[in-house]
Amino acid sequence: MIVIMKTDATPSQLTNVVALIEQMGGQAHLSRGEERTLIGIIGNGRPFDPDRIEQMDGVEKTMPVLRPFKRASREFHPQDTLVTVGDVVVGGSQITLIAGPCAVESRDQLIEIASAVKERGAQMLRGGAFKPRTSPYSFQGLGEEGLRILAEARDVTGLPIVTEVIQPELVPLVTSYADVVQIGARNMQNFALLHAVGQAQCPVLLKRGMMSTVEELLMAAEYILSHGNTRVILCERGIRTFETYTRNTLDISAVPLLKQLTHLPVIVDPSHGTGKWELVAPVSRAAVAAGADGLIVEVHTHPDQALSDGSQSLKPETFADLVASLRKVAVAVGRTA
Ligand code: PEP
Ligand code: MN
Repeated sequence: MIVIMKTDATPSQLTNVVALIEQMGGQAHLSRGEERTLIGIIGNGRPFDPDRIEQMDGVEKTMPVLRPFKRASREFHPQDTLVTVGDVVVGGSQITLIAGPCAVESRDQLIEIASAVKERGAQMLRGGAFKPRTSPYSFQGLGEEGLRILAEARDVTGLPIVTEVIQPELVPLVTSYADVVQIGARNMQNFALLHAVGQAQCPVLLKRGMMSTVEELLMAAEYILSHGNTRVILCERGIRTFETYTRNTLDISAVPLLKQLTHLPVIVDPSHGTGKWELVAPVSRAAVAAGADGLIVEVHTHPDQALSDGSQSLKPETFADLVASLRKVAVAVGRTA
């Protein structure tokens, strides 16, 4: 249930309502808007009596919450959540561009790519140090050495770094280096991992599972939010369908749908979403036109030599062309890039 306070409710009226909610066995979750405060009641399974709450001074009305993802829902938190990472704001008027290789392969490789994407307009650097590969024989990432290289690339370029964590035990290590920690598609419902990043002091980029519904994605976000971490960025990265020409089917409708259902920022990964570098630019433009708050794009200086995902990686020059064209699309939908 949501309690909508009057615009002129006083702090002590708010305190009294929170006390009543707690006395009734609920948890009060405050959302302070510019005009008024909303209180989301996270229940204990028992229904709450709306009349008792509505009789309190300062309360305008109560509303039942229809969505199972209470903290992630726009019903409870109408204003957009902005996730700030250094100087970068994700979810505001500017489209956030995250770019870099699929995996950190070496110091020289990463520093070269990081400098190239920075020069061409990226605001954050991506790169996997722990890679969740389908085959145990494929390159698994450089591990902590990869994290050290990412931190060096951040020092050189000033770009905040986004990198994946694949095990709960590694969350303290990865978050000690990362500016944003990524939960990959294969781990979207790894609840122990969601719990661990929910307790971390680091923004989380949560990717949609390749066989997950939009509601399952939002419930995964709810796990993170309910453990105290409110800085969650959602990412549509394509789902599995019967189509085989593309690696995944990028669900473009998920973007405006998520923007309706949740206050969290929504970005798109056109690289894993298509699997083909030629499709990355058109799909990126579609994503921004559909309301995405940002993009995470794989870029490599030598895609033919990449240890993973070379076929879906843009070269820096193609990335530059993409950025230029995105600027026009962003302006057309009232944003900047
Ligand atoms: C990645 O970003 O490199 C990655 C493995 O993505 P996903 O989890 O979406 O497959
Ligand atoms: Mn990849």
